Amino acid sequence: SKAKGGNQYAFYTAEMGEQATQHLRLEGALQRALQRDEFLLHYQPVVDIGSGRVTGVEALLRWQPAGHPMVSPAEFIPLAEETGLIVPIGDWVLATAMRQQVAWVRAGIGPVRISVNLSARQFLGQDVAQRVAALLEETGCDPGYLTLEITESVLMENPAAATETMGQLAAMGVQLAIDDFGTGYSSLASLKRFPIHSLKIDRSFVMDLTQDADDAAIVNAVIALAHSMKLNVIAEGVETNEQLAFLQARGCDQMQGYCFSRPVEPQRIEAMLRVS
Ligand code: C2E
Ligand code: CA
Ligand code: CA
Ligand code: CA
Repeated sequence: SKAKGGNQYAFYTAEMGEQATQHLRLEGALQRALQRDEFLLHYQPVVDIGSGRVTGVEALLRWQPAGHPMVSPAEFIPLAEETGLIVPIGDWVLATAMRQQVAWVRAGIGPVRISVNLSARQFLGQDVAQRVAALLEETGCDPGYLTLEITESVLMENPAAATETMGQLAAMGVQLAIDDFGTGYSSLASLKRFPIHSLKIDRSFVMDLTQDADDAAIVNAVIALAHSMKLNVIAEGVETNEQLAFLQARGCDQMQGYCFSRPVEPQRIEAMLRVS
């Protein structure tokens, strides 16, 4: 009815106003978070499927506003991208991960491969290679043990610019990985032009691997073709032993997932690295 429609309209405007206010509040809080030192990195082990050894870690950003629960990156990275705040935040992530790599060498844990996620705006921005070079110099990080993860969709957004930037990064000795592979509709053949080292099979394909024949076929194809292109394959989001057994049988190289460990704070990942 008309009355109901009117009510709905009022309801939606109030709701939208509230959302906009929350959006602004979040943006302001995000802006202050760097100065207040509210960001931290958690690390998830990357495990060699054959040997079960931890071969590296992925740095995952966490935001811990004072007096509030931890905020997931899924909740604030899109806004950080929109507002451009991702650039200083991404810089902080890179510098912190690089310093951590150096600190682990100094602590006698040895060189640990650290993977860092780069957002679209960070990667497609003008000076990402320069920023990485400057931070490598500043921190003393070994580029041979640094992997930068870029999503498949970012590559396809501007393949020419991506090729150039990746060439610059690869020339520094940094490894490149394609994150969320399988979600961006690029063909494996089109990846040939990029100087990449690894493919990360998106969690959405791993999730139903043992129930869904299509997902199983996709994962099989990605592993086989990636290997034929001499690429390292990492499965994301491995939660069960059945998924792990499937991936092991298909020769998938590495995996990350709750079946081995969630992302954890630096001290806990250190303990895992020491025994691995
Ligand atoms: P991603 O790069 O695909 O990272 C994997 C996500 O899957 C992480 O979520 C991780 O905690 C989660 N995960 C790992 N194993 C499992 C599993 O077995 N089961 C399930 N259900 N989930 C698992 P997280 O830490 O919430 O990060 C979400 C996304 O936020 C990341 O996805 C990445 O796109 C983005 N992100 C995280 N840190 C950064 C960062 O420093 N910079 C940028 N630009 N993006 C980041
Ligand atoms: Ca990632
Ligand atoms: Ca991923
Ligand atoms: Ca993902």
